[in-house]
Amino acid sequence: MYDPLHDSSPGTNLDYPESYWAGISGEAPQDDGQLTSDIDADVVIIGSGYTGLSCALHLAREHNIKAVVLEANKTAWGCSGRNAGFILKSTGRKPWSAMTQSWGEEVMRGIYSEVCQGVDTVNSLIAEGIDCQQQTNGYIRVAHKPSMFAGLVKQAKLLQNTFSYDVDILSREELHQSYMADQNAHGAIRFDDGFGINPLKLAWGYQRLARESGVKIHTGSPVIELSENNGKQVITTPNATVTAQKVVLATNGYTPKNFHLSVANKTLPVLSQIIVSEPLTEEQLQACNFLTSNVVMDTRALKYYYRKLPDNRILFGGRGAITGKSADDPYYANRLLNVLKQSFPPLQNIKYQYAWSGWICMSLDDIPHINQAADNDNVFYAMGYCGNGVSFAVQAGKRLADKVSGKDLPNLPLYNKQLPKFPMPALRRVGQWGYFHYGKIKDAYF
Ligand SMILES: Cc1cc2nc3c(=O)[nH]c(=O)nc-3n(C[C@H](O)[C@H](O)[C@H](O)COP(=O)(O)OP(=O)(O)OC[C@H]3O[C@@H](n4cnc5c(N)ncnc54)[C@H](O)[C@@H]3O)c2cc1C
Repeated sequence: MYDPLHDSSPGTNLDYPESYWAGISGEAPQDDGQLTSDIDADVVIIGSGYTGLSCALHLAREHNIKAVVLEANKTAWGCSGRNAGFILKSTGRKPWSAMTQSWGEEVMRGIYSEVCQGVDTVNSLIAEGIDCQQQTNGYIRVAHKPSMFAGLVKQAKLLQNTFSYDVDILSREELHQSYMADQNAHGAIRFDDGFGINPLKLAWGYQRLARESGVKIHTGSPVIELSENNGKQVITTPNATVTAQKVVLATNGYTPKNFHLSVANKTLPVLSQIIVSEPLTEEQLQACNFLTSNVVMDTRALKYYYRKLPDNRILFGGRGAITGKSADDPYYANRLLNVLKQSFPPLQNIKYQYAWSGWICMSLDDIPHINQAADNDNVFYAMGYCGNGVSFAVQAGKRLADKVSGKDLPNLPLYNKQLPKFPMPALRRVGQWGYFHYGKIKDAYF
C-alpha cells in the first residue's frame, strides 16, 4: 500500500480499496476526467477529499472563484471514501479541558463553535439532497473498564456545565438493556447529536454540488511537481500543467513525501483499520441485544469504534499496521475481529467480509491547522485532523476558502498557527511504535 512517509506519489487513477463503501455505493458519479491539456486557473486545489471539495464548493458559492481540483486517483480515494462515517462534534485529539489550560476558555469556546459549525454545514449540505444513508442520531462513548466510568461521568458534567450539552449518563445495565450488550463496556455517556453516514456517498454528493457550482474536478491527475514562475504557481501533472494564482494543499494523511516545504515533516500518517462483518441474523441481533445504530467509541488510548450498519452488519475499527508494507496483513483485521467477539460473545462464529485501512493524519500538537504557508503567500493548506475529520474537514475547507479569498479567520490556534514540525522527523515511526506499546500497557493495566 502507498506509504506517505516513503513514496513520492499516491499513484494514478487507482481503484478504490475493496471497502464495504466501494462495494455497496454503486457507480461513481461523473467527474471531469484526467487533465490532458495545459490550463490557467485562479486556484488549484490538490486532493478531492472532504477538505478539497468543501474548499472548492465554498470558493465557488461564497467567493465566486471557480477552482480546479486535481486528484491523483478517484474522488475521495483517500480517507474521505474509506472512513467509519462517524459525524461527531470534535476534531483533533486535544481534550476541551487541555485547550482551556493551554489557551484559556474563550479560545476553547471559539474552537467548539467552529466544530459545531462543521456539523451544521454537513447537515445543511446533506439537506440539499445528498443520499448518504444517514442513521439515527446518537454517539455513545463506552468505558472499557469500570475505572474509566467515573472519568466519563466527569466529562459529561463538564460538557453539560460548559456548553449546556445534552449528555446522558448510562450505567452498564442501562447501556446493555437499551442499546447493546457490549461485554467490554462498563457504562457509557451518550450524546444526542453524532450520527453515522456512508462516507463515500457523502463525498460524491459534495462533488456533485461543487461541479454544479462550476468547479472542475480532474481525477487520475497526480501533482508531481509544484514550483513558482514569475509569481505564478506551476502545478505539473503527468499530461498537463496548470498555471495558477494560488494553490491549496488538501492532501492530509495522503500528502506524499517531500511534497511541499510548508508541510514537510509536520504530519504523521497513521493507519486506521476497519472490518465489516457479514450481516447479523435476527437471532444474533437479539442475543447481543443490538438495538442501536448509534456510533460507538471506547475510552482506550488505542481506541476501538463500531456501529451497526443499515443492513445489520457491524463495522468495527481500530489501529492498523505501522507501515504501508504491512497494511494488508490479515493479522490486523483478525485482531479487530477478536475484540468484536470479546465484546459480543454470541458472535463467536462471525466472519468479516470486508477489511481495509487508511492513513489518518496526526499533528504534533493534536489539532488541525488551516493556514497560508509561512514562506509563500499563494500556498494554503488544511490538515492534521487526527482521525476526526468527517465533519470538521468541511469547516476547514470552508475557512480555507475564506483565507484564499483574503478574508480574516477567527483568531484561533486552528487558523493562526502553522503546523509544528516533528522533532527528529526521521524517527516519527519509532515514536509511534513507542506510543502503541505505552497504549497497550495503559489500556490493560491502568
Ligand atoms: C479508517 C479510517 C476511519 C476514519 N473514521 C473517521 C470517522 O468515523 N469520523 C471522523 O470524523 N473521521 C474519521 N476518519 C478521518 C477522516 O476520514 C479524515 O479526517 C478526512 O476524510 C480527511 O479528509 P481530507 O479531504 O482532508 O483528506 P483525504 O480524504 O485523505 O483526501 C486527500 C486526497 O489527496 C489526494 N492526493 C494526495 N497526494 C496527491 C497528489 N500529489 N496529487 C493529487 N492528489 C493527491 C489523495 O489521493 C486523496 O484522495 C477516519 C479515517 C480513516 C483512515
